[in-house]
Amino acid sequence: MDFALNDQQRMYRDLVRDFARREVAPHVAEYDREERYPTEIVKHAAELGLLGGVVPEEYGGAGLDYVTYAVGVEEMAKVCTTVASAMSRTSGLVGAAILQFGSDAHKRDYLGAMCRGESLGATAVTEPQSGSDVAAMETTVRRDGDSYLINGSKIWISNLDCSDWFLTFATLDRSMGKDAICAFIVPADTPGLSFRVFKNKVGIRASSTGELHFEDVRVPPENLVGEEGKGLRVALSAVENGRLAVSARAVGLAQACLDESIRYARERVVFGQPIGEFQLIKAKIAEMMVDVETARLLVYRLAWLRDQGVRRARQHAAMTKLHSTEIALKAAIEACQIFGAYSCSEDLPVGRFFRDAKFLQIVEGTNELQRLLIADYALGYRQDR
Ligand SMILES: Cc1cc2nc3c(=O)[nH]c(=O)nc-3n(C[C@H](O)[C@H](O)[C@H](O)COP(=O)(O)OP(=O)(O)OC[C@H]3O[C@@H](n4cnc5c(N)ncnc54)[C@H](O)[C@@H]3O)c2cc1C
Repeated sequence: MDFALNDQQRMYRDLVRDFARREVAPHVAEYDREERYPTEIVKHAAELGLLGGVVPEEYGGAGLDYVTYAVGVEEMAKVCTTVASAMSRTSGLVGAAILQFGSDAHKRDYLGAMCRGESLGATAVTEPQSGSDVAAMETTVRRDGDSYLINGSKIWISNLDCSDWFLTFATLDRSMGKDAICAFIVPADTPGLSFRVFKNKVGIRASSTGELHFEDVRVPPENLVGEEGKGLRVALSAVENGRLAVSARAVGLAQACLDESIRYARERVVFGQPIGEFQLIKAKIAEMMVDVETARLLVYRLAWLRDQGVRRARQHAAMTKLHSTEIALKAAIEACQIFGAYSCSEDLPVGRFFRDAKFLQIVEGTNELQRLLIADYALGYRQDR
């Protein structure tokens, strides 16, 4: 097994690192404070080809291998989890679903445009009454003449006010459960579609998140993604990719906590010596380091599996998501402890890392669900098909 990054992977990492340090880092605190999506930065990232991820070049993507892509997302997340999320959009659910189930027109008009930064797509799955239990969704769709009419609400949708379109899901008949779900692309300017951004969020503040309301939203049949009633397959098609991205973001965030902690522990003098010389602080640094390394190995292995053409790796993806996001919050808590009162300061990033880390445990399937999945595979109750 080769654990070294190749030349291409190192070059991509350095490109992202340079961009993150020069163009993202000086503005992160401001976007977080103002709860403003970094549109200008994301556009510039697109010009550098940083949004194209693993999408093949023929569809406008960067055609990266998964390891290179994960390394890039991790690198950006050391500085900003929102821009790291933008880098993973085309390779995560919204892009991967279109790549797998979309028509040629979807790939050209939505996926390609998103890779080039010309339009931004978001995923709208979660509803006020159904989060983890996706199949229990209440948003309905019915045929009306030669189009579809969608009614209902989605909630906690990221990039709400800066997206040009949504990949969303609705049911033809709630009594049929998962067999009635359909996936659609809905442009943001469709009549009947409205949204409300939640303000004063605790974490991931630069990504505008909120509620999307559908009132007789009329969608043409060509906006159906995949087959009628097979929408859950579309929603689940990119589970590995989504969990890979959130895990790479968690590792980046945890590494940043470690780097900041090491720097501060060497500088901060208490009782006449740098706090790094106290054994209790050393123990925190050592644990963070082991946690970050093990999480990174899981992330790279998941990426490597995808590069080997392994399509279904649900258990490994669940372990990766669980471990990386658990250690990210732990690292953020310990970094705050090491920084003492200064962790409360907006001038230093560890307080923001702490606020952001919590929500990585909730997005892309809560960590309770990951635990259930891991155990179900271990017990033989589930198998990848
Ligand atoms: C910052 C942020 C951004 C988001 N962005 C998006 C987005 O872009 N698009 C989108 O569609 N959604 C998005 N979400 C929503 C996210 O996907 C959901 O919050 C998540 O799926 C969990 O759903 P829920 O919050 O309704 O929790 P619930 O499903 O109500 O769960 C509540 C609690 O019960 C636990 N639980 C549920 N079922 C079980 C079980 N079987 N066994 C044990 N415990 C269980 C959960 O783990 C959780 O702790 C976002 C959320 C956040 C916080």
